[in-house]
Amino acid sequence: MQQYTPMIQQYLRIKAQYEDAFLFFRLGDFYELFFEDAIKAAKELEITLTKREGGADEPIPMCGVPHHSAEVYISQLIEKGYKVAICEQMENPQQAKGVVKREVVQVITPGTVMSQTMMDEKQNNFIAAITSFGKTKYGIAISDLSTGENYITLVNDGFEELIHTLSGMNVKEVIVAPNFSNNAQQELKKIFHVAISYEEHTSIREEFQNITQKLHTEHELITFGRLLNYLLRTQKRTLAHLQPVEILKQTDYMKIDLYSKRNLELVDTIRKQGRKGSLVWLLDKTVTAMGGRLLTKWIERPLIDRVQIEKRHEMVQCLTEQFMLREQLKGLLKGVYDIERLAGKISYGNVNAKDLVQLKKTLEILPDFVQLCYEFQHPSFSQFAERMPTTSQLLDKLSRALLDDPATSITEGGIIRDGYNAQLDEYREISVNGREWIKNLEQREKEKTGIKSLKIGFNRVFGYYIEVTKANLHLLEAERYERKQTLANAERFITPELKEMEMKILHAEDLLADLEYELFLQLREEVQEHIPHLQTIAKLLSEIDVLQSFATVSVEHHYVKPMFNEVGDISIRNGRHPVVEQVLTDTQFVENDIVLNDEKQMLLITGPNMSGKSTYMRQLALIAIMSQIGCFVPASEASLPIFDQVFTRIGAADDLVSGQSTFMVEMLETQYAVTNATKDSLILLDEIGRGTSTYDGMALAHAIIEYIHDEIGAKTLFSTHYHELTVLEEQLPRLHNVHVKAVEENGQVVFLHKVHEGAADESYGIHVAQLANLPEKLISRAKSILQQLEEENTIDKSNFVVNEQLSFFKDEQEEEKKSRTIEKTIVREIASLNLVNMTPLEAINVLYKLHEKVTRDGDKR
Ligand code: ATP
Repeated sequence: MQQYTPMIQQYLRIKAQYEDAFLFFRLGDFYELFFEDAIKAAKELEITLTKREGGADEPIPMCGVPHHSAEVYISQLIEKGYKVAICEQMENPQQAKGVVKREVVQVITPGTVMSQTMMDEKQNNFIAAITSFGKTKYGIAISDLSTGENYITLVNDGFEELIHTLSGMNVKEVIVAPNFSNNAQQELKKIFHVAISYEEHTSIREEFQNITQKLHTEHELITFGRLLNYLLRTQKRTLAHLQPVEILKQTDYMKIDLYSKRNLELVDTIRKQGRKGSLVWLLDKTVTAMGGRLLTKWIERPLIDRVQIEKRHEMVQCLTEQFMLREQLKGLLKGVYDIERLAGKISYGNVNAKDLVQLKKTLEILPDFVQLCYEFQHPSFSQFAERMPTTSQLLDKLSRALLDDPATSITEGGIIRDGYNAQLDEYREISVNGREWIKNLEQREKEKTGIKSLKIGFNRVFGYYIEVTKANLHLLEAERYERKQTLANAERFITPELKEMEMKILHAEDLLADLEYELFLQLREEVQEHIPHLQTIAKLLSEIDVLQSFATVSVEHHYVKPMFNEVGDISIRNGRHPVVEQVLTDTQFVENDIVLNDEKQMLLITGPNMSGKSTYMRQLALIAIMSQIGCFVPASEASLPIFDQVFTRIGAADDLVSGQSTFMVEMLETQYAVTNATKDSLILLDEIGRGTSTYDGMALAHAIIEYIHDEIGAKTLFSTHYHELTVLEEQLPRLHNVHVKAVEENGQVVFLHKVHEGAADESYGIHVAQLANLPEKLISRAKSILQQLEEENTIDKSNFVVNEQLSFFKDEQEEEKKSRTIEKTIVREIASLNLVNMTPLEAINVLYKLHEKVTRDGDKR
């Protein structure tokens, strides 16, 4: 330490407190980074690494970014998962005695970004705190700092459950206690690519009691306390915009596990990991950013309360039926600003006059919005109107205070309207009149001197001046004019009266800018008091926006309102896969019915590859989810139960958990489904057992079907390549065979995508390979192998019905092989006998040996 200059010592002292962040150290107009930070940042940001003398023998590595463009660099680091501590100069360097006082004013982390450029406007940016209580219990607190939303949820069934709960929430950073399991930290990093941060403190300061009123248990309080303390420690401000914590009860929502969220491509697609092609992409016709964010939350958490769901359906129905009102509503929403994030900006002191003008415009819309809600003449819409807070006072204030198009900077004037503040008007008068006076003076001087080209100008160094060209200098009365500046062709002068007026004008303009700034800050504080109202408005507007989005999509794509039944029946007429039907370009989507009920609890779906088995299964899950979020569904008629959970095992499984094989992942997903599903759940299992040997796979598939059929009773779709399984229909009363049809035309397979009763008879795998353009030679070889196999016909389907034991397949096959070998040897032996030359005794001996062979081996059989 001693060897360094005082400033570097100060740097090192501060850096020691922020080991895990890049320290952006303000030096004049730059943020500088030193030592290791500099080396690493120069590499990450591709900026020049330089050196600086710092008192020691060796110069110190250094790099820097201009403060006005720092945001770009900070966002690059945050995107890469780093943290950045912003260290500002806390006093005017000119007035500082010794080293300028510096302090970290904010630590920006992936979960706490506030800048618009670092966030997707239609996505929440969540940070979560996780606390473990014992071996299987976890508390999860979640917050979006930009909107002020806070949630808490408790998980009782272990780490896996925790992962499923966190999935799909777009969590960017996770806060844990320093002693939180290392393995668990690694898993979280691996699955969600989150930054991990630590916070020990969990007690909640009194001033936050208003937002923690719904928290009662110690687990809830500790978990939220950890999150809050981290936010306060890193953000170093009061966070006035934090909203009351909402408790998310796992049992209030349809549970969709991590696998299903991915398999069903609810918020992003499996292959491209993008939004396009996902359910949220399809349903997003929201007009506001707030609506876009709410839509994602609704999709991640479908409801299970029938009353609430039906309320949404009714509102969507009103919106679909009232085209004009719906269009008017969209028109109004187009003028709505992101006031939810504005609340965050206000509490961060980042809001400018342009933001407040946007707020004003949003508030101006509200009376029309309320009026429109009543025009729907439906109690649910009227309720929206009634719940809308009145903000006329705030609106009046903003309208009186702000210019229509105020300056972006808040310190240089050009913000406040005339008539808002008497003092401000006076300064403006002086400034405006002063300029007028100067114009008149210019005219007077021209007349007095007879110099037509004389002019009065202004520059920052000399202030106002009178400029006269050199050719005209002789016309001036020397004693009245004081020379200030000489140019090539002209001289510049001042006079006492010009100087006096200049003082007045400049003073007034300074005062004007200061006063406007002062008034703006007051206004901002007043708006801050309205934050809870603004948040309520944001909620109502975003809900209406999502509902209109549902209505718009439903009308556009001809969806119908689903009905619910208490008996658990599924009856979907002409159902479609909502996304596939939109992305198909050359062909028409083929509609299919899905009927399941007490007698027909499970469908076993067979059919060739590519025939549409997975699409059919996904279609059902998506229809169930769409109906439970309140949207209409792609069918001509739909009656559904309310599902408590959806489980899927479909398509190529990513290795999400921890370096497991595809088959292991398949088994984990299946295990999760069969251990958690209830009779009110929906299970979709696609090609279970494909990842292992035929007999293993078939045995497992068989056992799983039986287990779900007998033990769980959940509505289930099970697709399989094992045609042998179709005989189970005879054994399991509630299992029903269906198949997706394909026909062969001119040696090519044509997929009809139509689901029919009964089992499929052919697999057409080779034809699909042909469609995929595998080499002709390879295809014909496959065909001949297939033919051979079919001729050998090693599996006898009639033997397939299994009662108790699952392992018999293998034994039986072995036995069969063996007996065939014995038969072949006996036949060979008999054929080789020379009967003509044999004595009767020899013949008896041969017969005896053959008999012995058959009976010995036969006994075993
Ligand atoms: P595999 O057994 O190889 O997984 P699959 O039988 O599950 O195949 P899908 O993946 O569901 O087949 O469907 C294959 C393709 O067929 C889809 O990508 C889609 O383009 C088309 N398809 C599926 N269902 C339909 C339908 N009902 N109407 C029109 N096209 C469809």
